[in-house]
Amino acid sequence: MKVMVTGGAGFIGSAVVRLLVDTLDVQVVTVDALTYAGNLASLAPVAERPGHRFVHADIRDRARLDALFAEERPDAVLHLAAESHVDRSIDGPAAFVDTNIVGTYTVLEAARAYWSALPAAARDAFRFHHVSTDEVFGELGPDGAFTEDSPYAPRSPYSASKAASDHLVRAWAHTYGLPVLISNCSNNYGPYQFPEKLIPLMILNGLDGRDLPVYGAGAQVRDWLHVDDHARALWAVLTRGRPGETYAIGGGAERRNLAVVEALCERLDARRPQGAPHRRLIRFVADRPGHDARYAIDAAKARRALGWRPEHSFDSGLDHTVDWYLANPDWWQPIRDGSYRGDRLGLAAGS
Ligand code: NAD
Repeated sequence: MKVMVTGGAGFIGSAVVRLLVDTLDVQVVTVDALTYAGNLASLAPVAERPGHRFVHADIRDRARLDALFAEERPDAVLHLAAESHVDRSIDGPAAFVDTNIVGTYTVLEAARAYWSALPAAARDAFRFHHVSTDEVFGELGPDGAFTEDSPYAPRSPYSASKAASDHLVRAWAHTYGLPVLISNCSNNYGPYQFPEKLIPLMILNGLDGRDLPVYGAGAQVRDWLHVDDHARALWAVLTRGRPGETYAIGGGAERRNLAVVEALCERLDARRPQGAPHRRLIRFVADRPGHDARYAIDAAKARRALGWRPEHSFDSGLDHTVDWYLANPDWWQPIRDGSYRGDRLGLAAGS
């Protein structure tokens, strides 16, 4: 089997590529534009593997995608390429509309052209799996959880652009018969996450003795899932999911943001004591505009229909993540000091 993974140099995409190539021996062609969030160092473990090819390309480039489909002849597309950071979407929504909506439309059209020319058996077996977020459902009150049937109610430019892409994918299934799958997942954490996101930012700031900025009172609740558990879920959806269906994926690990930061402080106190507890560094800062109060996922369908369940508890996953960042400054130091962009372009040349 050969899978085209868009956004495979990002946080979740690289976890999927490492799982497919390293553990499952699946052939992968990674397609990534290497924006600020894409990092070839995250693919270093599979760089030399014959089953993996990295292609430096933009998902909005239709001609390039057509050529790639013709050349690679994938059996499936796992579409993860996106602008993914809510704060950036508030400061500059245009890139989110371009990549998440126009980019998804372009990948869908290239996939449809390729798929419609396949022999009948290969057409039936082909899959287009769109990777999305629980944020498309808006925010929850204190009770309940999102399911596959939750109504769409996105509230940030990021979640609105992802909601639009979900609707496009469903329309391509309904109108053209493209065999699609959609998964909507809760917040991910784990190794190789860009340090603008909550957990790596707090670990690295804590190590440096810098402030730990917490929005508002840190009362927002998120449902956390280790990225390797998400990668396994994506593979389960792709290979065992029914075309046309949606799967809600989550860790069943709801935590207030402040509780997450405090849990990280405790781990840093134990591993890198600084004399005074790390929680002294916590600073409450003005809340994000329109900050959603709570997200949670009911993943019963994925558990029942796919036999998937997370392997990490939140506690074991946080231990693993903190230990990974402590052991891998070679990955995050170039990002923190800004030098990785030069390295990255050097590495990408000719790819
Ligand atoms: P990320 O920002 O770490 O990675 C995105 C990748 O897409 C990067 O490698 C980037 O270079 C690439 N990319 C961006 N624009 C591109 C373009 N125009 N052409 C080709 N490549 C491009 O994001 P992530 O956290 O790994 O998220 C991956 C997907 O999963 C996204 O679709 C996101 O919406 C979804 N998702 C993320 C989470 C989460 O908690 N991070 C949760 C649920 C769903």
